Amino acid sequence: MFGLIGHPTSLEHAYDVAKELGYPEYINQGLDFWCSAPPIVMDELTVTSVTGQQIQGKYVESCFLPEMLANRRVKAATRKVLNAMAYAQKHGINITALGGFSSIIFENFSLQRLGRIRNIKLEFERFTTGNTHTAYIISRQVEQAAPKLGIDLSKATVAVCGATGDIGSAVCRWLSERTPVAKLLLVARDRERLQNLQADLGRGKVMTLNEALPEADIVVWVASMPKGVQIDTTTLKKPCLLIDGGYPKNLDAKVQHSGVHVLAGGIVEHSLDIDWRMMKIVNMDVPARQLFACFAESMLLEFEKWYTNFSWGRNQITVEKMEKIGEVSIKHGFRPLLAFAKA
Ligand code: NDP
Repeated sequence: MFGLIGHPTSLEHAYDVAKELGYPEYINQGLDFWCSAPPIVMDELTVTSVTGQQIQGKYVESCFLPEMLANRRVKAATRKVLNAMAYAQKHGINITALGGFSSIIFENFSLQRLGRIRNIKLEFERFTTGNTHTAYIISRQVEQAAPKLGIDLSKATVAVCGATGDIGSAVCRWLSERTPVAKLLLVARDRERLQNLQADLGRGKVMTLNEALPEADIVVWVASMPKGVQIDTTTLKKPCLLIDGGYPKNLDAKVQHSGVHVLAGGIVEHSLDIDWRMMKIVNMDVPARQLFACFAESMLLEFEKWYTNFSWGRNQITVEKMEKIGEVSIKHGFRPLLAFAKA
């Protein structure tokens, strides 16, 4: 059995989730309520591969909200992630993906050192961040969506916002080693980490977001921001491809400018319907087929019986591992989402 640990993107979104899934006691509750709410299994699902193989899974709602970080409720945030992991393990789930901010909290607050939750010793090999598959899918979205807009990668400038992150650094490695991308712009806040990445890659220009945006033909957004940013689309090149892999989204409002094309990043489409309710409430266009690549990673590990923390730690993702997960992704019928958002 596989598991998915997820969370709403905001307090407002949490109300919608509770309403949609039939949890009236969770509706209109404030942040304090969510800080003390325990994890629950909100959905159970069966996934069928194009090979015919079937697997069962559970969606565990951790009840974490990004507002907890914005309001310095760090203890509550870390408790949410650890309790959800202990809960998944107690339910006998073999491999569980830490979706959205779950893995970021796990790493940023070094939760690895807290191995025991009450009477449960966490077995970390039962969990994966799902970031290898996410980085693979975003890289393939760059490769496959660019030609659709007439962008030739061998002449293109690609800016990666969140370049020093787990997903961002992996995307940079893939673009450097596996594609002819002409120029790579590295964007994040910590300059020292950016310079270390530049040295590792042996290429890339360190820039601020405002410097990078007007130069980029393609922008990959993989920054861990609790709230999205507003950008001035008039300063962007036309055409420009924006691949937003953030959860919550890195871009605040709908981008409405002809020549600027937005693609939901790190999203896969499955070849067969999945009978679940989760993807409807995160506003996927085709909820029965579209899902986060990190969730799909735990499905792939279950299909292949690779019961191991395939993606773990920070900035350890290799191009070889991306290729390996990419092969089984194709084998089981997943493909990168290539439908641009409607303006
Ligand atoms: P990490 O914490 O490893 O990296 C985050 C990166 O963002 C760092 O480079 C950080 O550098 C940068 N960053 C943070 N804030 C800002 C800012 N205000 N401006 C510019 N850069 C910033 O995160 P992950 O790589 O694990 O995840 C990245 C994003 O992808 C998150 O939004 C996450 O929720 C999402 N995600 C999506 C998945 C999917 O399936 N689609 C799966 C998993 C994650 P610095 O601090 O120096 O600025």
